[in-house]
Amino acid sequence: MTRIETSSDGSIQIEIADSAGYCWGVERAIDLSVEAAKDTSRPVFTHGDLIHNTYTVNKLRDEHDINSVREVNAAPKGAALIIRAHGVPPQTKLEAASAGLTVVDGTCPLVTNIHKKALQLLKDQYKIFVIGKASHPEVIGIVGAVEHAGGEAQVLESIADAEALPVMKRVGVVMQSTLVAHKAGDIVSVLTAKSREVMAINTICHVTTERQQEADHLSESCDAILVVGSPHSSNTKKLAEVCAKGGAPTHQVEGVTDLDLTWFAGKRHIGIHAGASSPVEVIEEIIAFLLDNLVESVA
Ligand code: SF4
Repeated sequence: MTRIETSSDGSIQIEIADSAGYCWGVERAIDLSVEAAKDTSRPVFTHGDLIHNTYTVNKLRDEHDINSVREVNAAPKGAALIIRAHGVPPQTKLEAASAGLTVVDGTCPLVTNIHKKALQLLKDQYKIFVIGKASHPEVIGIVGAVEHAGGEAQVLESIADAEALPVMKRVGVVMQSTLVAHKAGDIVSVLTAKSREVMAINTICHVTTERQQEADHLSESCDAILVVGSPHSSNTKKLAEVCAKGGAPTHQVEGVTDLDLTWFAGKRHIGIHAGASSPVEVIEEIIAFLLDNLVESVA
């Protein structure tokens, strides 16, 4: 679903994806962090930046005194440590608890569910594969959960990774929550062709699916598209790829100051989408700026 805003002279339409902005998993992690910071008897740290968005990370620091640490042992004893929506391997939580930290678990329940599915596959004696990006924290957390339970999980990033595997018997698959569905499907097809049995569990989050469907729609209907999100956010990058599919010039911006009005010269139908870590106030600021400024720039 999308909403449409029209410039005051009616010449330009801006179509905004309904799902643009924080997903509920990210919103939940932010709410938990703000709640934890109300207890001022101890400092509060996030394990890595809570989300890939400078605006939000700075706001948490400036308004709630929430800072981030890369490693568990960088937080002082007695502090609260927030786990991000991506989750972590169980070992990380144990390490934090034994370092005297209070763990506040912001892992998205949908990510926790992927851990559970992977552990069930392990119990059912499948050879486990995780389709996703090996270096992504969510994937590191899933693999870590399987290893913590005494198993092994191999990450498949591409069709080539799957093609390089030998013939197998029982294969179990889970997926990073933010994958593009057809890419995961292509990899599962390769596994199916070389395995006696494949139990592929679609763990792509429904928010991601909705976001990608709206990106598909914008790519077909708009003549220029903005995707709001940090350059470090992998889900924003994937979204921009989907938006660009239809050939409309697609620009990734973090905030209103990154905009260049020359991008929209001659354009009449502009799409706006945003990754899961983009705050709604930043998106609305961009929309308001375009509505105020585009009329003259395009004329
Ligand atoms: S994208 Fe989905 S799985 Fe990931 S944090 Fe958001 S709601 Fe949770």
